[in-house]
Amino acid sequence: MRTPLIAGNWKMNTDSTSAAELARGIAARAAEVPGVELLVCPPSAYLTLVRDALGDAAVGLGGQNMYHETSGAFTGEISPAMLADIGAQSVILGHSERRHVFGETDADINKKTQAAFAAGLRPIVCVGELLEERQAGQTAAVIRRQFEGALAGVSAEQIATAVLAYEPVWAIGTGQVATTEQAEEVHADLRKQLTERYNAEVAATVRILYGGSVKPDNAGQLLGQPNIDGALIGGASLKVDDFLAIASASGGVTA
Ligand code: PEP
Repeated sequence: MRTPLIAGNWKMNTDSTSAAELARGIAARAAEVPGVELLVCPPSAYLTLVRDALGDAAVGLGGQNMYHETSGAFTGEISPAMLADIGAQSVILGHSERRHVFGETDADINKKTQAAFAAGLRPIVCVGELLEERQAGQTAAVIRRQFEGALAGVSAEQIATAVLAYEPVWAIGTGQVATTEQAEEVHADLRKQLTERYNAEVAATVRILYGGSVKPDNAGQLLGQPNIDGALIGGASLKVDDFLAIASASGGVTA
């Protein structure tokens, strides 16, 4: 039984006023989606403000990225310890924008994943192929390489606490959502890799989110797939109604 996880990646959006409003709006309505885990990942600058706006509501707080070192001369970076210190429980790692805009490699993402575990943070490790890789029939190989690279040296105990996210790069922010068949095929393959690399019990525990143009009108079908355990949402997470509608479409905990 995997509780659906609905995570909002606010990216570099909002300002202090709208971030607080969005957080308060989600907090006020979190009880409408029992059996669903909600998580918001605001810009670093607004993490504490959003934490305070969420108050006691059952909504988690996550970073969108971090560096792998704990402290030091790393201008502009935020550390795992800092995220944990301000009350974040999760952190998105290896998002396609980190990979393709900022040049992060699988090795970088692996260091960050290890650092997240060491700091007691739950990593949400993203994988996903480019359009040209899909068109060349390389999707499965790319996802396997990213899975192996990001999770090198990660133990069964650690991975059991983590979350994976499949985000086809061509579907992120484009309105071009993957079909349920395309998404489920990759999710099932990720589950198989978890079984092969770890064991069936771990594979049955780890949640695998889909991300890429998830909206209220396509969420039900995607989240109804056996291996899709939630969503990582960009654009639609900036609207309280849409975020909650997607959470509602996940149907809550199913046996
Ligand atoms: C994302 O940023 O992870 C994402 C999936 O964005 P969008 O929902 O806007 O496609």
